[in-house]
Amino acid sequence: MSTAPVAKVSKKIPELQHRNFRDDEFWKKIPAWASVTRDQFGDHLWQLKNSIRKVDQVKKVLGNLVSDEIVKDIEEGQKITPMNIRITPYIFALIDWKDPINDPLRKQFLPLGSQFLPDHPYYKEDSLHEDEDSPVPMLTHRYPDKVLFLPTTLCPVYCSYCTRSRLIGGSTEAVEKESYGANQKNWDKVFDYIAKNPLIEDVVISGGDSYMLTPDQIRYIGESLLKIPHIRRIRYATKGIAIFPMKITSDEAWFQALKDVHAFGRSFGKQVVIHTHFSSPKEITKWSVLAMDKLFQEGFIVRNQAVLQTGVNDSVDEMVLLIRQLSYMNIQPYYVYLHDMVPGCEHFRTTLKEAEELEKAMRGTTAGFNTPTFVCDLPGGGGKRHVASYEYYDEENGISIWTAPYVKPGAVFAYFDPIHKLSPEAQERWKDPKVYEKMIEDAKNHVIQKLGK
Ligand SMILES: *Cc1c(COP(=O)(O)O)cnc(C)c1O
Ligand code: SF4
Repeated sequence: MSTAPVAKVSKKIPELQHRNFRDDEFWKKIPAWASVTRDQFGDHLWQLKNSIRKVDQVKKVLGNLVSDEIVKDIEEGQKITPMNIRITPYIFALIDWKDPINDPLRKQFLPLGSQFLPDHPYYKEDSLHEDEDSPVPMLTHRYPDKVLFLPTTLCPVYCSYCTRSRLIGGSTEAVEKESYGANQKNWDKVFDYIAKNPLIEDVVISGGDSYMLTPDQIRYIGESLLKIPHIRRIRYATKGIAIFPMKITSDEAWFQALKDVHAFGRSFGKQVVIHTHFSSPKEITKWSVLAMDKLFQEGFIVRNQAVLQTGVNDSVDEMVLLIRQLSYMNIQPYYVYLHDMVPGCEHFRTTLKEAEELEKAMRGTTAGFNTPTFVCDLPGGGGKRHVASYEYYDEENGISIWTAPYVKPGAVFAYFDPIHKLSPEAQERWKDPKVYEKMIEDAKNHVIQKLGK
């Protein structure tokens, strides 16, 4: 029997806390923005112009609010992280600068050198094999009836843990990239491929982030896809609502383009929805509610995909609060992902056991349709699987073995827990490739025998 601790609901969060949406002028605590008015702060152009893109801006904007140690630590972080810095003033001002070390927003967008851990030996830049499953550039076709289209490599913020750090944003000290921006030249080839494959009904438009597409590009992509007879559903994926709600409320040309595509789809019975990415209740304010009210009034369905991260949303209380607040704003919590095994994110990852326990504790706290599915997107391209559906789990050594019968028949996949969360003896085993390769082989054989192959 396992003796692992079971996640408990601590009741730290008052039952109705999720109905409080912060509406104070929190940005005025940032010295450089002390006299910025609500109207200015709510203007998407002001947000764009004042986005933080370099470490010296952090110091310039914060002045004495940030210590030299923290600035130095951020500089060290820039030498390791595969992602550029880009943070909207909205998110930057929501960071608790009295306690930046523990702040979940700072952790996501401004990594500290001192918090990085060595990469797991099985980390891969393209952990999910998106390039391998790509029939034409910018498109991943892994499942029979749905595809993933990456029309841009730009985002309004850069997350230090991005699963596509190999492509997204500009080169960093740690990684050279061939980012293609929003290169429209290749899009027609993608539409051609989709048009020639009648099984495809569903297109995820991601990136990068759809927020970075111009109104014309939003229209061009939406209309081109919706005109293909067999396409029934498209989803624009953007972290925007979470980190830059002012674009929804004040960029009328952009919002109009989105509305037009939505109306165009509906006019012949096709779905146009938005998938967004809130990770922490700390990102949610009255500004989020204003953006969502506007989207809801236009009839948009919005769903959320979060990544499970240590110190961001890995407690039952934070997760329940996140789910309740999203639901309250009419955002449907869709997925919570176990962290992908990509470079520079070992300090963020949880074990599979932690994810399973959190899932058990959270289920039952609200409506079933607002209860996210906890999934592991299998390294090697097996696709998304429910966290409890592994074939075998060597908890001691942090090795789980999975199959994906429909997506990759006959193949077995492995996911690994972060080494620093294992017992000291297990950590020792992970120092010797001969030892850990044997452990993985044994775990796989266990499953192959079980399945009778
Ligand atoms: C996630 C993903 C999709 C969409 O999957 P859903 O489970 O329907 O959200 C499609 N293609 C690829 C390659 C994906 O990674
Ligand atoms: S918004 Fe998405 S694609 Fe962009 S950096 Fe963050 S995780 Fe990566």
